[in-house]
Amino acid sequence: MSLAATLQSFPRYPLLFGPSPVHPLERLTRHLGGPALWAKREDCNSGIAYGGNKTRKLEYLVADALARGCDTLVSVGGVQSNHTRQVAAVAARAGLKCVLIQESWVEWPDSVYDKVGNILISRLAGADVRLVRAGFGIGAKESWERAVREVEESGGKPYAIPAGASEHRLGGLGFAGWADEVAEQERRLGVFFDVVIVCSVTGSTQAGMVAGFAALAEDGQDSGGAGEGGGGARPRRVIGVDASAEPARTREQTLRIARGTAELIGVQRKIEDSDVELDERYHAGTYGIPDEATLDAMRLAARTEGMVTDPVYEGKSMAGLIDLVRRGEMARDSTVLYAHLGGQPALNAYSALFD
Ligand SMILES: *Cc1c(COP(=O)(O)O)cnc(C)c1O
Repeated sequence: MSLAATLQSFPRYPLLFGPSPVHPLERLTRHLGGPALWAKREDCNSGIAYGGNKTRKLEYLVADALARGCDTLVSVGGVQSNHTRQVAAVAARAGLKCVLIQESWVEWPDSVYDKVGNILISRLAGADVRLVRAGFGIGAKESWERAVREVEESGGKPYAIPAGASEHRLGGLGFAGWADEVAEQERRLGVFFDVVIVCSVTGSTQAGMVAGFAALAEDGQDSGGAGEGGGGARPRRVIGVDASAEPARTREQTLRIARGTAELIGVQRKIEDSDVELDERYHAGTYGIPDEATLDAMRLAARTEGMVTDPVYEGKSMAGLIDLVRRGEMARDSTVLYAHLGGQPALNAYSALFD
């Protein structure tokens, strides 16, 4: 069965406009003078509160929540979590209630840090937003489990969504579908993306891509330039750029989710450790805090392409993309796809960086 047909066997609650846009980054490519750079834009994939990568994952989780008769989505993230903002808006769209545990994952001095950007939108969308003291962590959270119990005790039917919608049976499906979408767009555009660059923290974005491309390869659909003559199959690389600053945990979680997702979508071969590439050079030392390289990358993307990135995630993967090109770590004749995963609303909480 094709990947598209396999994915159709899972209930999906549509939240996206359709396939997200793919376009060349002509001025950035010319500026850096290396491989041809393109972007695929999850930052404008939906009309629901700016969308983003979590909205794509949530199509499968929300369908599951509705099928189970749940009435409240309960999730967790940092104060400026893009994920919780997307859960809040998607809950509103699906007619569900929403409880959000916002932990202090980042020590950031902006006086409006807990007022603007993502958290403002979550409040606007009617979520029950609860600020708690707890540090950064991508695993299961005690405060979140307590919130789930509280919804139950007050007679509601909670649906628990872990940080980043990642450590969940269905968490990888959205980006397995993204891989299928890329293959279709490549056929239409007549290009092949040798490398995909993706920011990674809770892992199911990269994991879904890895599982999805593995499924396509087994199906003979990810032939990488083999074209009509065949035989010339180029391998496709998915390079995760770690932004968690805890890369061992991110790698382990990504690999686990990639294996779970691959099994779910019927991939025959074993997903190897080497299938999950995670570059640890660009996280700037701390989750949620940029360094000069992050800020330089954000400025360059904005000043060449008008493409807005944030200091927590996409600024770091953009710094990775730029440095990999400058170091010549990707072949000059290759074509590189930058997966823009969203996250711009957080920028408002970092105004002090651009005074
Ligand atoms: C959540 C997020 C990521 C990381 O994705 P994971 O699936 O958690 O690895 C990257 N960029 C943005 C903008 C995000 O919101």
